[in-house]
Amino acid sequence: MACVRAFQFCLPGPSWKFSEVAELYKRSSERSDMGKYKVPPLPYEYDALEPHIDEETARIHHTAHQTAYADGLNEVLSSINALTHKNYITGILSDLASVPEAARDAINFFGGGYDNHRMFWESMRPGGGGGPGGRLADEIGVYFGSFTEFKRKFESVAAAVRGSGWGWLVYNPTYARLEVMETQDETSPWTLRRVPLLGIDVWEHAYYLRYENRREEYIGSWWHTVNWGEVEERYLRVAE
Ligand code: MN
Repeated sequence: MACVRAFQFCLPGPSWKFSEVAELYKRSSERSDMGKYKVPPLPYEYDALEPHIDEETARIHHTAHQTAYADGLNEVLSSINALTHKNYITGILSDLASVPEAARDAINFFGGGYDNHRMFWESMRPGGGGGPGGRLADEIGVYFGSFTEFKRKFESVAAAVRGSGWGWLVYNPTYARLEVMETQDETSPWTLRRVPLLGIDVWEHAYYLRYENRREEYIGSWWHTVNWGEVEERYLRVAE
């Protein structure tokens, strides 16, 4: 059994509290005093990821699309008087059965969209790319054969998403292993009991201005933006 000593619990096993792990990803600055979720500022300029992510796409994606997810999340939480819910959205997503059934679908969509996009920008950086090091690099070798094989698998899964959705590298706590998966629309890996480590948005709004319908070209270029230090940090939080 792998223990996460820093957080005083072990996984997998009866002491694995998935919603508690999800809470570790809380960003207090993203909620106002009234409990409303706010769109976090971009950690770099809108043109910082050029030429892989163009400035106009980054701006519209962040100011319009991401804002709509935050607004939708606040609205649905307000409708069930849950804006001041003590758990952060990742904790709520990891335990959707605990919220009223009538609100689950909207929380899945808007809450997933809220957290997926927060992670998306944090997972990129100007001058990114390359590959992971340390323990994550070793584990990618174990589960995918090599970094090249991992990229091939991730690309094929992300490219094959039907319509809108995301491609992911996740940690599956049940089997204590890495996996590549897709989610439809804005469903978060948290909802499916997986810890998201790296995700690519393959909604057309994420790439159409520069790449038109060439999603695979976008995915290939996006690798040059990945902030592997951030991904490694996420992994080390849950795996030991
Ligand atoms: Mn998006």
